[in-house]
Amino acid sequence: MPTALVLGGGIMGLCAAWGLLRAGFAVTVLEQDAIPNPRGSSVDDHRLIRHAYGAQRGYMRMVDDAYAAWDALWDDIGETLHVPTGVLALDEGAGDWLPETRAALRADARPFSDLSAAQVNERFPLLDGAGIADALHMEAGGVLLAGRIVAALARHLEGRGVRFRQARVRDLAGGFVLEDGTTLAADAMVVAAGPWAPRLLPRLPVTPSAQVVVRLRPADPAWARMPMLLDLSAAGGFYMVPPVAGTPLKIGDHSFSLQGDPDAADRTPDPSEVERILSLAERRLRGLRDMAPAGAATCFYDVEPKEEFILRREGPFWAMSGFSGHGFKFAAVLGLRLARTIADDENPAALARWAAGQESIPA
Ligand SMILES: Cc1cc2nc3c(=O)[nH]c(=O)nc-3n(C[C@H](O)[C@H](O)[C@H](O)COP(=O)(O)OP(=O)(O)OC[C@H]3O[C@@H](n4cnc5c(N)ncnc54)[C@H](O)[C@@H]3O)c2cc1C
Repeated sequence: MPTALVLGGGIMGLCAAWGLLRAGFAVTVLEQDAIPNPRGSSVDDHRLIRHAYGAQRGYMRMVDDAYAAWDALWDDIGETLHVPTGVLALDEGAGDWLPETRAALRADARPFSDLSAAQVNERFPLLDGAGIADALHMEAGGVLLAGRIVAALARHLEGRGVRFRQARVRDLAGGFVLEDGTTLAADAMVVAAGPWAPRLLPRLPVTPSAQVVVRLRPADPAWARMPMLLDLSAAGGFYMVPPVAGTPLKIGDHSFSLQGDPDAADRTPDPSEVERILSLAERRLRGLRDMAPAGAATCFYDVEPKEEFILRREGPFWAMSGFSGHGFKFAAVLGLRLARTIADDENPAALARWAAGQESIPA
């Protein structure tokens, strides 16, 4: 039986392990922390999945394959950890993102509706439509219950014989060199180290980026029936995740900090950063200041300059990186495709182009 070692017990490492297990490998996962890992990028209440993707049509199309891969994963773990919410995207100015999204959705005949500010007010009375110049609503899309997915997938893999070893990899030199100097090697070796990846593979064009999210508990249960909100206002856009399945409502902004150290001992967000995010959202979310605070957190993106994913060979290793704050939705399909490329000895260049969102090939 071929062997595989996967560095990283975040969603990418676990999905690679899942794909490799299904492809017939004996898999071991190496993780420096516990799984689920609150220091990792994957462990939070929710992550969004949506077709609205601006001009990035490769990623828009990959969302169909992503949903199919999640369905296969739900079958394996025995539960569906996705809540459909739909998407509401809006802009106060004449930005490119909404027209590009609309053109891409139309080209593929994907259903959506255009809304005026008055229609936003009427359909979504929890929002203040003031100043909206353009808006689009789509029924497809929803919330992936991220932390629960990571925990359930790890349990499933363990039950199917995947070995988990808590160890920090110090270096990559023909194999994984552990802190005690031991080197581990396997037929297939995957590096899915999230924001720590540039430490191990400095050639990757990836920057860790600390991002703050703010959580709130609205009293009105109608918030849980809201679509995810993407506010693209040039003056300061933000996203809002509705409080589905008992989770808090969450807001964050769209800009990259491009700074921060994922190993920093203190990840407490600066109160001024929390206030900045609240002030972006308060003009749009009615009663925001009356909602009960439910904490704020610092989480890390691994940013690639063009926001394109990296799935490529680095010597004897397969690197999974550059997820730029939008990777979770694709983790299951990326894990299956990577495993297929490895198991069937497919062309790594085709994998790299597809992962970068440059072409649409079925997973
Ligand atoms: C605030 C926020 C919001 C986001 N929103 C969305 C969204 O709405 N939709 C979406 O699709 N995506 C979203 N993302 C992006 C998505 O969550 C990430 O792309 C994804 O979780 C990355 O997973 P990962 O497995 O690569 O990284 P991680 O989860 O960080 O896993 C990497 C693991 O590797 C381990 N590791 C690292 N180095 C070593 C070492 N040397 N030895 C041993 N172990 C090591 C770490 O401990 C860690 O557990 C968001 C991200 C953030 C931070």
